Amino acid sequence: MQYFNNQALNSIIFDTFSLLNPVTKERYRNPALTKNCLHHKACFELEEALKEIQQQKLYQCPHCNQQAFSKYDLVQDWRVEAYKEFNEEVDEVIIIKGMMFNKCCRNKYKYLNFFTQPEYYKQFEQIFERVENDMQIVSLIRRDLQQQQIQNNNNKIIYLCFCLLDKVKINIPVRIRGCQHYECYELTSLLNFQIENRKKIQYLECKQPFCSNRLRIAHKNYSIQSVPISKELDEQQKILDIQTLFSGISVDLDLLNVIKKSNPSSFKFYYNKKTENIEEDINKIDGKAVDPFIVKFYLQHPDVQQKMQYQEFQKIIQQQTILATQGGLLQEEQDLSKQLTLQRYRNYQVNMIDKLTQLTIEYPVRCKLCRDLEVCMDIRSYIAQFIYFKKFFLAKGFSCPICNQQLGQQILRMNIQNYIYLDPNILSYMYQNMSNIIDTKIFEYHGEQYMLQDFKNRQKIKREDYVASLLDRIVVFRQLFCRVNFELRIRQPLILYNCPDRKIVDFKSFYQELKKINFDLEKQGLILCRCNYCYRNPIKFIAGQIYFHEAFYEALNKYYQIQDNNQNESHFTYTFADTERDSYIKTVQLILPLKINFQRENGSFWDMMSDEKYQSLFRGSEIQGYKFKLFAINFQTLCKSQSYQINKVYMLIWNKQCRISINVLIKNQNNMVLKCV
Ligand SMILES: [Zn+2]
Ligand SMILES: [Zn+2]
Ligand SMILES: [Zn+2]
Ligand SMILES: [Zn+2]
Ligand SMILES: [Zn+2]
Repeated sequence: MQYFNNQALNSIIFDTFSLLNPVTKERYRNPALTKNCLHHKACFELEEALKEIQQQKLYQCPHCNQQAFSKYDLVQDWRVEAYKEFNEEVDEVIIIKGMMFNKCCRNKYKYLNFFTQPEYYKQFEQIFERVENDMQIVSLIRRDLQQQQIQNNNNKIIYLCFCLLDKVKINIPVRIRGCQHYECYELTSLLNFQIENRKKIQYLECKQPFCSNRLRIAHKNYSIQSVPISKELDEQQKILDIQTLFSGISVDLDLLNVIKKSNPSSFKFYYNKKTENIEEDINKIDGKAVDPFIVKFYLQHPDVQQKMQYQEFQKIIQQQTILATQGGLLQEEQDLSKQLTLQRYRNYQVNMIDKLTQLTIEYPVRCKLCRDLEVCMDIRSYIAQFIYFKKFFLAKGFSCPICNQQLGQQILRMNIQNYIYLDPNILSYMYQNMSNIIDTKIFEYHGEQYMLQDFKNRQKIKREDYVASLLDRIVVFRQLFCRVNFELRIRQPLILYNCPDRKIVDFKSFYQELKKINFDLEKQGLILCRCNYCYRNPIKFIAGQIYFHEAFYEALNKYYQIQDNNQNESHFTYTFADTERDSYIKTVQLILPLKINFQRENGSFWDMMSDEKYQSLFRGSEIQGYKFKLFAINFQTLCKSQSYQINKVYMLIWNKQCRISINVLIKNQNNMVLKCV
């Protein structure tokens, strides 16, 4: 008997396979083939073959009629390996380029046909050849733990296996290179996103809150191109785009292995500090996985207990959960999708107690008819209710346990994945607040904060770009009050990019205006400035029109720090140095009480410690009402056109002919840096 060898599957490009014996509907004990069998879809039980060889000196494969005359003519089927790699609940797998993955229940045409196209499977194979160690979830977690060691962090590290893009359960986990968070993407979701968007946008902005990384999905910016191109050229460009996308992602093998090893309906993993590995977060009773939501529902219903074993009930619910979390309901329900987008930046509270089990909701779900987007249930108790009705009231209709509206007239014909969806907004932010939610059973959804963060991370004019565009690094900022609310001092500046005067509004009043139009920019449009242009062109999209002004924000912060007593000015002047630290607001001219004695011999030391005036600068002094303290002196010797940073109190004078100019950096009480030349 030969052992399974990995090359056996290499000829398979893309296909779905059952791991079960089609007769018994269970796994084989010892799946085997004859050494000449070439098929992968079917195999036979080793014991049966051995028995026949013993009795009749011959076994003929029931699938292809190849013959075996002794046990040496038999080989292990690939399922032997699959049984090791996958959870015992896995009945079906897909094989892509010889590698095994959990079966994907997604729309085949939209999400799976990629793998039958040469460029895709070539690239797919390559990302497995260049797995990057520091892009694996376990190394990311270990890195964070090392950095936090001092803080003695006892929190359990939880990871949820939802794709950041469309919240489906991940089967093939990939990261955008450079992302530092644990959350990542389902490969098929990224590929579908690319197909639908590559000619509209060049980059996918990472969807993780507070991450400003992005993935290039097109090798060039198509919106610039105007001439129509041939089909061939279009095909070539598509290939370049596919290569571009794959070069920006990295597969997470650690995560892939734990996904395969876990129940296909599990989303929740945690970092086990003892094994230093990531594991499925499940509750086990007598060695069997028991889901707290499903078991609670089961115990509440004696009629279910009479009809079904617990494990059977749980398995049905878990299978339906997989379908519901891989469904494309939101992609199809455009209206609902839009409502959820409008909901994204509202402030609201969510009651996190599950209606049926009274446990704290972990996977927030509701039906497509539910109007109130601030109410949800846990997906497991929702589906348990559905299955319960399906088993006991199969001729009746089914009503949503949240909104009580009837979803179908005959439950028998209903598939749950066509009616419910996980709330992408709540799911995005709830896990950062999980400890708070467990304590209070309330999730404070702070849409306003999330919007400001999105501006600061993604929708901004970067400091470096702004500074690079300046002819003169000294800028006079003349608009200090919000364009919408003239009383309001600007604190979080948003610039109206298309306004001829590039007027500024404060985030706070922008948010107020959004609230007034129910967040529906697209439909209502906002007029934020009364100039001719802005009045005629209400803002209907944020992208391309409103940006957070990072450089102005920096200047304002410094301005408010030192100008506390003097805020009646109509403008202020800010000098942008290369770094924020060295940039300063021009306010005072200092005459330094420091004169240097040039009368020194070549090569002799000048003892500044004994210079009383020099010492007094370090002790701090008050100039024009502000307190300053010297923290660095930069002496420049003009004759050598080189600059020396001197932090010592001794300074070497090497040539008495040198002219010395002095740069002094001065700090005030608030650590504000002023610079005087
Ligand atoms: Zn055969
Ligand atoms: Zn990211
Ligand atoms: Zn409902
Ligand atoms: Zn609040
Ligand atoms: Zn304007």
